[in-house]
Amino acid sequence: MLNASERFFLIDCGEGTQKQLRVHKIRFTKIEHVFISHLHGDHCFGLIGLISSLGLLGRKAALHIHSHPDLEKILQPQLDFFCKELPFEVKFEPFNPKESTVIYSDKNLEVETIPLRHRVPTVGFLFKEKPEDRKVKKEFVFIHQPSIREILDIKKGADYHTKDGIRIPNAQITNNPPPIRSYAFCTDTKYTEGIVDQIKNVDVLYHEATFSKDMAALAKKTYHSTAEQAATIARKAEVGELLIGHFSSRYKDLNVLLNEAKTVFSNTSLAEEGRVFNILLK
Ligand SMILES: [Zn+2]
Ligand SMILES: [Zn+2]
Repeated sequence: MLNASERFFLIDCGEGTQKQLRVHKIRFTKIEHVFISHLHGDHCFGLIGLISSLGLLGRKAALHIHSHPDLEKILQPQLDFFCKELPFEVKFEPFNPKESTVIYSDKNLEVETIPLRHRVPTVGFLFKEKPEDRKVKKEFVFIHQPSIREILDIKKGADYHTKDGIRIPNAQITNNPPPIRSYAFCTDTKYTEGIVDQIKNVDVLYHEATFSKDMAALAKKTYHSTAEQAATIARKAEVGELLIGHFSSRYKDLNVLLNEAKTVFSNTSLAEEGRVFNILLK
């Protein structure tokens, strides 16, 4: 679950999702958009249960589900059968998983897909804040008394012209807006450097690390990554922080994977159930 200024975005919805949301007291009624990376059960089996519960809780607002076009074919019959009286609309928002596209945009945030390499068509998601307007300096407003129209133009980067025709460059009368933050979510995928450019410099990268490096052959065969590979992507993309997850159940001690990743990229953490991470500027 991504909380972006109190807007809630659910990314993938495996079987245990609803239970974990309840256990960790996350207000899942506030979810407006769900992003499904690919149509493997561990990433979408939780949808029908979650939607049904939202209906019982009396939700009215539409729920948008962004996914491969086939999800509608799978989920609509279940909705027709189990959720006949649903008090809100489920809006399917299909995208083409083969290309990178902007699939969501509001005034603060944009989401684009990151094509990955897995056994079925799969994408990651890149969440990027939109830059705010430039901040107009108070002294300038006090001295020159610009009109509202002029202030709006200056916020967008325009210079100011005094009544005597003197040009004051924008940089002198404004301050930079706060820097934007970004988060990339990449699961499931084999090691692919093709994503590095797109996720370059993100503040936080979540990357799957299903296996340890001694199982690299199995990782390749099943289109998954090792912890070392996840960390290599993080290092090449020069991200701020790496979160690893999607661990094979064979690992009883996840420190094996954490330590392996840390030897390549030190600022790595385990994305374990219930943990909360702040997205800090790198
Ligand atoms: Zn998968
Ligand atoms: Zn998976």
